[in-house]
Amino acid sequence: MTTDALPTGAPTGLFIGGSWLTSAAHLEVINPASLTALAQVGDASVDEGLSAVSAAHDAFGAWAATPARQRSEVLRRAFEIMTAEVEDCARLIVLENGKAWRDALGEATYAAEFFRWFAEEAVRVEGGFRPSPAGDKTIITTYQPMGVAYMITPWNFPAAMATRKLAPALAAGCTAVLKPAAETPLTALWVAGVLQRAGVPDGVVNVVTTSQAGAVSSAILADDRVATLSFTGSTFVGKLLLEQTAQRVLPSSMELGGNAPFLVLEGADVSAAVEGAMIAKMRNGGAACTAANRFYVHESVVEDFTAALTAALRGLKIGPGIDRNNDLGAMVSVVERDKIVSLLDAARDEGATPQEVAEAPATGAFIAPHVVSGVEHGSTLTRNEIFGPIVPIVSITSDDEAIAMANDTEYGLISYVYAGDKGRGISVARRLQSGMVAIDRGLASDPAAPFGGMKESGLGREGGFAGIHEFLEPQYLAVDL
Ligand code: NAP
Repeated sequence: MTTDALPTGAPTGLFIGGSWLTSAAHLEVINPASLTALAQVGDASVDEGLSAVSAAHDAFGAWAATPARQRSEVLRRAFEIMTAEVEDCARLIVLENGKAWRDALGEATYAAEFFRWFAEEAVRVEGGFRPSPAGDKTIITTYQPMGVAYMITPWNFPAAMATRKLAPALAAGCTAVLKPAAETPLTALWVAGVLQRAGVPDGVVNVVTTSQAGAVSSAILADDRVATLSFTGSTFVGKLLLEQTAQRVLPSSMELGGNAPFLVLEGADVSAAVEGAMIAKMRNGGAACTAANRFYVHESVVEDFTAALTAALRGLKIGPGIDRNNDLGAMVSVVERDKIVSLLDAARDEGATPQEVAEAPATGAFIAPHVVSGVEHGSTLTRNEIFGPIVPIVSITSDDEAIAMANDTEYGLISYVYAGDKGRGISVARRLQSGMVAIDRGLASDPAAPFGGMKESGLGREGGFAGIHEFLEPQYLAVDL
């Protein structure tokens, strides 16, 4: 399929109170592979954002009181619908985000899994019951859904970042207002349509697409009917939002930026490391918070690793993701592509040597993979989240040096370790300041595992057993039994 046609019935209106509404203003969605307009979606005003809050607030009491088993079954149906229609979801992701078909299909499948996982978690929230040490009372711990959850998601995983928030919130008994990124609103609207078809009552899920992220979000966060914020995006915007949520002491779950180190230590299996690097670096064209951002490779293997990785990258086909034969699609926009180009320019100015290893199409927001050698730790490419198919390689002389460099960042989301044997890999991992470590693997994300970062990479965890607790408030009951 090579056309820009959206899947039949893909919604474009604002989703408020169970209705698809046409707003007065519109936002244009661009296909970054062709730079042509794909669709127009609603461009919500502040008032429309607040009416979504009203709908979510009105729906909260009944949804919170709905038996967990019933909420679970709605989520399970959403999993089944999304799985049956996974190609429609992948198609929307490719068209508005630009990524390769295989990445989009992988994302859509992963996104659906959050519905399955949290369908299972909805009925497993445990409380506590124990005598106090002093023997004067019983300590009962119970959980309540927080209320209306406001969710803000980025463009790089338009389906998975939405379901990773919506599924646990709904499982917990919360209602939701979701604001997706302006570049990728169509996928989030489609996910809301899946939930509607799965039987989510009117008002439980609302989606506002807008070009005024700041104004709409400030008004929503100032509204005392909103009980929690769940944000995924850059650390810069996360900090702006934390200043606002501090005003209302609002619980705030923050999944922020990353600067993942990829360690190839002395004695590592180079071909396994290259295979892992191709996944850790190239999934989503490098536009992932989990993307390997800087490579610390032992001097004894750095030449072999660089040559083998360069050869593997050279074999990639670059072009529109809608052509399923392409391995690397477009970046989300020309603006994002140009940010990557300027990081490469800075690396050249600092004396590093970027080597372009393939040719990208001239039209569209494409960029070819580059391997950059001669990179110094502390230089531009090791300090900034690149978000593209660029591989900066730093030669290291010892495990201690690699660990010190890996930890020398304000971020702490994920690290990758190739150490030759698992025991050594685990002991290195335990010295790394990151919320997640992949050992001899290029991929760690799993709906059943706690996803999140240390330091400025975030607050809280999504997925796993922790994810539902981002939407639950513990309550302690002191009872004299
Ligand atoms: P971004 O610029 O921070 O935007 C993220 C979301 O915040 C978008 O919906 C955006 O809306 C919205 N936003 C922007 N300014 C805002 C404001 N003043 N008030 C309220 N909302 C605002 O990030 P991005 O460029 O879309 O995404 C890339 C970043 O996300 C990277 O740093 C990446 O590491 C991070 N990320 C983290 C994770 C994780 O789980 N830790 C996962 C994926 C991505 P508009 O689109 O309308 O600007």
